[in-house]
Amino acid sequence: MKEIAIYPGTFDPITNGHIDIIERAAGIFKKVIIGVAEETYKECMFTLEERVELTREGTKYIPNVEVESFSGLAVNYVMNRDSSVMIRGLRAVSDFEYELQIALANRTLSEEVETIFLIPQIKYLYLSSSLVKQILSAGGSINGYVPESIREKMAEKFKEKKQYEL
Ligand code: ADP
Repeated sequence: MKEIAIYPGTFDPITNGHIDIIERAAGIFKKVIIGVAEETYKECMFTLEERVELTREGTKYIPNVEVESFSGLAVNYVMNRDSSVMIRGLRAVSDFEYELQIALANRTLSEEVETIFLIPQIKYLYLSSSLVKQILSAGGSINGYVPESIREKMAEKFKEKKQYEL
């Protein structure tokens, strides 16, 4: 039996939906390691360092949670961290096909790693990092969508980027 679970993802940026899943996982496993993916097929708004920093700050109140970055295949990362459990979150139907595909591909890559899906509260079912990015881009409030503790920091980082682009 493994006591460590790994929650890999892009976290661009972390939202209250991710936090909901992390709290649930932290209540089941002795330790939860959040793996912020270095390489991603998605174009990120925040750098790897920023994604790690925001995720770390947003989860620091949970004692058995650690945050780090990883590169390469998520299944290899899970095994390297001496775990066999990968946590993923399931939202509305739209996530299902994608998550099933990833979970089955990961099983083909490693039979040792089991994917466990957790479901957030209803209010987070339609919350995504993309939505947060859209709101930030339009200058709206992300109140209620991201952890209170990092809301300002996230908005500041976004503003800095905008200025830099101009
Ligand atoms: P990835 O690029 O690996 O999908 P994300 O950071 O977008 O990375 O998501 C990581 C995991 O968290 C995925 O399993 C995703 O479905 C889940 N997730 C994202 N937002 C929510 C949410 N609001 N509620 C529950 N799970 C979520």
